[in-house]
Amino acid sequence: MLLDPLGMVPDGLRRLLLEEVPARAGEIDRLNRVPDSLLEALASEGAFDATSLGLGGLLEAVRLAARSSPGLAHVILVHGTSVIASGGVAGSRGIVAFSVTEPGGGSDVIANLKTSAREEGSSAVIDGVKVFTSNALYAGEFLVLAKGPGGPTMYLVPRGGGVEVEPLELSGFRGSGVGRVVYREARGERVGEPGRGLREALQGINVGRLGYAAIALGMAESMVEEAYRAASGKRVFGRGLLELQGPRWMLAEVYRRSLLLRGLVASAIAGARGWTVDPVLAAAAKVEAGSLAREAVWTGVQLQGGRGLALGGLGERLWRDSRVLDIGEGSREVLLDFLWGRLERRLGG
Ligand SMILES: Cc1cc2nc3c(=O)[nH]c(=O)nc-3n(C[C@H](O)[C@H](O)[C@H](O)COP(=O)(O)OP(=O)(O)OC[C@H]3O[C@@H](n4cnc5c(N)ncnc54)[C@H](O)[C@@H]3O)c2cc1C
Repeated sequence: MLLDPLGMVPDGLRRLLLEEVPARAGEIDRLNRVPDSLLEALASEGAFDATSLGLGGLLEAVRLAARSSPGLAHVILVHGTSVIASGGVAGSRGIVAFSVTEPGGGSDVIANLKTSAREEGSSAVIDGVKVFTSNALYAGEFLVLAKGPGGPTMYLVPRGGGVEVEPLELSGFRGSGVGRVVYREARGERVGEPGRGLREALQGINVGRLGYAAIALGMAESMVEEAYRAASGKRVFGRGLLELQGPRWMLAEVYRRSLLLRGLVASAIAGARGWTVDPVLAAAAKVEAGSLAREAVWTGVQLQGGRGLALGGLGERLWRDSRVLDIGEGSREVLLDFLWGRLERRLGG
């Protein structure tokens, strides 16, 4: 490993993420689905027990998975962040899906929020359409942001009648179980405080943003390792490729940026109160994650030459995955806008 761990991960889970997942990552990408047997093995080794993993352990598990399968890393991350956003209520029915974004767009969530919740005593009836609901293919329950009587509120809806899932075929994070979900008179229960749904969602989303940084760290690490392996045996014009300063600096640059991002994530973990993380550090880490992943994959593929482009190979898969990092969990521009707002406040504007 090039980087120190972000937290503790049980040995069995670590072994699965470093041996079994890489062996099946190509299949996950091809089928756009994580095999049930692998999900079950991950569950039995604690991948979906966010409470026991804790913040550092969750992010480390995500980082290890993302070395070969960012899509699978995303499954673990989204389950964890959904449990967090539900205040620990979700998770008794297996994997949880996070259903916030609607067809109108995910950047301005409230302006596009059409899904409604009619409360009837302790239960609620949900109607609406969500897109990009990660984990939708695997979930036993869905954490849904809907317009309740008190405003945007979180509801937990079990899989079953009134919930229709249609898989989405995206080019990146394949296997993350992303779907379009139609809720038609779906029965659920309110899990959050009325009107505080977006704020509660953001508690999970901020951890998710650190998770995207962990995904970028995993991707960068495996790309550097693969490029190093390929370049070590390569001779060009009578010299080893890594005797040349250019390729060395390319790899050193990715390593340098990885160390900086790891430091940022580690300081967010150290400063967290429970699952509450500094939103500024989370946003900064998420923006940097997109840049690191892009540079790491570009470098990894470039040093392998044409072989780095092989369809289904690590470089080609991670190349597609790297594009997601600037969009999911808040687009790069939205996060820069948020950082600008905090900066302006500090500057006294
Ligand atoms: C793989 C994947 C998994 C996802 N998982 C989930 C999930 O589990 N649950 C969920 O609810 N959602 C999920 N999402 C949705 C994700 O949160 C949204 O894609 C994201 O918030 C951006 O929303 P959008 O794609 O609708 O883009 P839009 O909101 O339509 O924005 C389009 C583009 O406009 C630009 N833009 C927007 N606002 C501004 C601004 N203020 N200033 C400048 N430019 C701006 C940005 O470049 C942005 O990319 C997922 C998305 C992906 C790709």
